[in-house]
Amino acid sequence: MDSTTSDRSAGVLLGQACGDALGVPYEFRTPPGDDELAEMKGGGLGPYQPGEWSDDTQMALCIARVAAKGVDLTTDEALDKIADAFLDWGTHGASDIGNQTRAVLRAARQSEGPAGKRLRDAARAYASRNPQSAGNGALMRTSVVGLTSLDDRDATARGARAVAELTHGDPLAAESCVLWSEAVRVAVNSGELELLAGLDLLPEERRDQWRGWIEQATDADPRQFTPNGFTVTALQAAWASITSTPEPDLDPAEGSYPCLHLQHALHNAIRVGDDTDTVAAIAGGLAGARWGSSAVPWHWRRAVHGWPDDLTVRDLVSLGIVTALGGTTDAQQWPTGDRIESRDYDYTPRAAVRHPYDDSVWLGTVAASGHDADAVVSMCRLGVGQVPATGVDIRDHVEAWLIDSDDRDKNLNLDFVLADIAAATAGLRAEGRRVLLHCVAAQQRTPSAGIAYARRLGIPGHEAVAAIEQARQRHGPTGDCGTRPSRCRQRTRSGRELGRDPDLAPRCCTNVRADLKLCPLASPTHRRFTALFGRATSGAGANSPNAISSS
Ligand SMILES: [Mg+2]
Repeated sequence: MDSTTSDRSAGVLLGQACGDALGVPYEFRTPPGDDELAEMKGGGLGPYQPGEWSDDTQMALCIARVAAKGVDLTTDEALDKIADAFLDWGTHGASDIGNQTRAVLRAARQSEGPAGKRLRDAARAYASRNPQSAGNGALMRTSVVGLTSLDDRDATARGARAVAELTHGDPLAAESCVLWSEAVRVAVNSGELELLAGLDLLPEERRDQWRGWIEQATDADPRQFTPNGFTVTALQAAWASITSTPEPDLDPAEGSYPCLHLQHALHNAIRVGDDTDTVAAIAGGLAGARWGSSAVPWHWRRAVHGWPDDLTVRDLVSLGIVTALGGTTDAQQWPTGDRIESRDYDYTPRAAVRHPYDDSVWLGTVAASGHDADAVVSMCRLGVGQVPATGVDIRDHVEAWLIDSDDRDKNLNLDFVLADIAAATAGLRAEGRRVLLHCVAAQQRTPSAGIAYARRLGIPGHEAVAAIEQARQRHGPTGDCGTRPSRCRQRTRSGRELGRDPDLAPRCCTNVRADLKLCPLASPTHRRFTALFGRATSGAGANSPNAISSS
């Protein structure tokens, strides 16, 4: 799975959870007005803590924890496990629960047999007693099903239908889940937002009606889709919130980034009112699939949490990726391994250096030492045993999604992420924290983040670049990037280019100094990292009042 598909997979549950937690305070209450932004302030039906998600994401996690085992969701084995998880949640975890789901779970508890069959039978019986009972309680948890078979749309549709039918017997509920899960699958694979594309997965006689409902909602004012307890109006409200929200231009100088679409769409979803957390959870699953976890601002990532076991952003990202990988991890055991370590890098502790414009911000490697930071912003993959860092509270260890690559397209939202890292650094500093910014080797991502933070402090771009380089040079003329010499890209490049540019040779990692942590920013590394940093160095970026993420 490539880095952008991985980012988008990670965005599904995270986007859903953020929409849910943002919508919780306004469920069946006065929603925020046009000039107001929803806040994760808790309360609602739970009542919930600030940042806590509700039943929508709780039930989605019941599905996710089974899906992340890589099982086929249409099998009895998988459906029994999900049904058992729903029943257990209903007894021990449900902080609030929809009327239909409550009735179905109660009836299923009083019957015998495999859990999946009991739930399905109870759901069918409920639907036959209550015509037009297609509540939004299946749609609100279906986004994660879009990750279970990324290369198989028919299997995705079968899974969405089977999971929906565990609690919702009305065909409209399952049909809405088929459409939404397919839209998530398409968005994760392609970055496209398509809802009509899944129409052929529905029975032929049902397609025209759904086409009409979707076309009615596309680009429409979402506020007309209320009340939205019905699965059709919930889908319309969520789709209208996404499609009617303009995609911002990329203009870092003005704090404008295309992926702010995710934040804007969720705020619009909550402004619809009525079942705010559910509509925003539905919208968030798809917007997260489109824009990726890297579009979710740091203060949302830091705040979201909930049942079961007080899961946090790391768990949502991990469950999404493992599900998309079919129950496995990548070759480095990421994201579920205890420690993620590259064979390319020497993990000897290396002294961090102070940021040139803030003595309480440190720049370092994954093995940074000699600093007094009590908060961390990590820009590389870490294992479950590495977060939080020693002596750091879990809430003060922020993980950012930043891929170390010369190819800007490897990062879905590069400019936004750099501004968001700067915002996170500023936010933690405002709370009195001393912050370590680190990646693996501090060659590219860490200095880029250091410059982004300097830019946020108002330092002109060229001055910021020069100052970061001077911070390195104060520690000596040669570099020690920590990369094993045989695997050092600079050394390889230096050797190859030695004849043409003799300056490269003495800067190579063969000259190891234990006290220098920022690898040379001059010569090839400087060009690489300037290419990575690109346009984000050219403007005020996150200082702009238009940057929601920095507020
Ligand atoms: Mg809810």
